[in-house]
Amino acid sequence: MTRGFYIGRFQPYHNGHQTVLERIAGWVDEIIIGVGSAQLSHTLENPFTAGERVLMITRSLADLDCPFYVIPIEDIRRNAVWVAHIRSMTPPFEVAYTSNPLVMQLFTEAGLAVQSPDMYERQTHSGTAIRQLMLNGDGWEHLVPKPVVDVIREIRGVERLRRIMEHD
Ligand code: ATP
Ligand code: MG
Repeated sequence: MTRGFYIGRFQPYHNGHQTVLERIAGWVDEIIIGVGSAQLSHTLENPFTAGERVLMITRSLADLDCPFYVIPIEDIRRNAVWVAHIRSMTPPFEVAYTSNPLVMQLFTEAGLAVQSPDMYERQTHSGTAIRQLMLNGDGWEHLVPKPVVDVIREIRGVERLRRIMEHD
């Protein structure tokens, strides 16, 4: 049994994340998806709650041919014990999938295998770019799985983001 770990903030979950997770599903028996900065919401960089992000991910991966667990993980801002913090919240795993240099370094020092899957159309498929499109009133729906469009509509997510940007 091999479990793989993948972490992001998923603000929002997009087709880049989806593409990588579909690839990882072919390499491991189970996937653990960490929803990072879980305590944050209602800010320009982190508009969606951990629960809303869990909904986006769970619905988008409903047809995935690999069992997965979606686990919110709060920041601890203490890099030296960050891997232990994650492991205290997740099922055991042997390999981490990430291309973030700090995350790679921390997992490697903890003795875990690290792999860096190729990015999928990174120019357009980034949370930052998608939030900017939402703020500008431009089309963003084609960059995320359909269930994410539904969740953001349900919670009036674009209106939330615009409201947060306004000044008092
Ligand atoms: P933000 O711009 O808000 O930081 P992001 O697109 O970088 O959003 P995160 O929520 O920060 O996404 O998630 C980071 C994880 O997602 C990393 O493992 C990163 O490698 C992966 N990732 C992000 N964009 C892509 C992409 N286009 N293709 C493949 N993986 C991606
Ligand atoms: Mg990022």
